[in-house]
Amino acid sequence: MKKLFILLLALLLISVPILVRILTQETSERYERETVLMDTRVRIVAYGDKNTPDYINKALQKMRELENILSIYNEYSEAYQLNKNGYIEGPSPHLLYLIKDSLYFHNLTNGAFDITVQPLLDLWSAGLWKANETTQDRMVNETLSKIGSDKIVVNENEICFKAKGMKITLGGIAKGYMVDRGIEVLRDRGVKSALIDAGGDMYCVGLKPSGEPWTVSLENPDNPRQAITSFKVSDMAIVTSGNYERYFSPDKKVHHIIDPRTGFSASPCISVTIIAENGVQADALSTSVFVLGPDDGINLIESLPDVEGLIIDNDKSIYRSSGVSRYEAPIS
Ligand code: ADP
Ligand code: MG
Repeated sequence: MKKLFILLLALLLISVPILVRILTQETSERYERETVLMDTRVRIVAYGDKNTPDYINKALQKMRELENILSIYNEYSEAYQLNKNGYIEGPSPHLLYLIKDSLYFHNLTNGAFDITVQPLLDLWSAGLWKANETTQDRMVNETLSKIGSDKIVVNENEICFKAKGMKITLGGIAKGYMVDRGIEVLRDRGVKSALIDAGGDMYCVGLKPSGEPWTVSLENPDNPRQAITSFKVSDMAIVTSGNYERYFSPDKKVHHIIDPRTGFSASPCISVTIIAENGVQADALSTSVFVLGPDDGINLIESLPDVEGLIIDNDKSIYRSSGVSRYEAPIS
């Protein structure tokens, strides 16, 4: 009898912790949602408990709020009003931050990053690429007087343009910012494993449930189904700028990244991938390095701590920054 009692007690002692563990165990499921923001497919993947879909929705909601402030195509947005009137009073902290940051990157890149290129984008997208060289040169030269971030004046309660007809585009930096703010929403709610991908502007949080970092493939511009290389990232942003998705002329030579020094589409690269601590930095730098080209671009990347990059130039040669191999993984 005593033996049986001891046996039962032992069984109880063993089974209670197991039962407690089963009852309190966190269930980690994969959740995914996709939408379109800034004319771009935005996808969030997150692992977690049953509240995770709600967190994903909250992150997307935050990103949509930002689109409503920053998109120059939404006539109720602050960016639209700024472009229309040449000034805005009482800008939100978001617009203020992004404009100031854009000016910072303008200085850092010796003018390669310049949000005032919108009047040139308007010209090219309206069909200037079909005109002869003389017309192109004349129109671009006429428009260059409206270009230049040094002609933006920023105070805490007002942003204004110094020249008539100036317009900004935040297309080279806003998606990175939106990804960062979306990630903040997820992290604030305790999400430990997630990624946000806004059309190639990505941030990866933590590790996948398998304990592996997230894998991001760089597609071959000539064949999107083929990968050129892939990167393993965790708690980092990875952003790729390319001329092969948004272009105006069928030969892709006239596309959406403008060299502010010439007024024409930047020509030295096919694609630039930047890995950095946050989305804003990676986004602004991917556009900047695309304009600067491989030599100046690699020099810029090397001058910045915790930034790495991979550039494919026009001849399809690949340039790597000195530390990018830390992230590169063989393609399986
Ligand atoms: P994607 O939008 O394909 O991710 P990018 O991040 O490189 O690519 O951003 C390209 C966008 O940046 C353009 O559509 C335009 O809005 C803006 N842009 C173009 N040229 C410049 C430039 N020299 N400096 C800053 N922004 C630019
Ligand atoms: Mg960019």
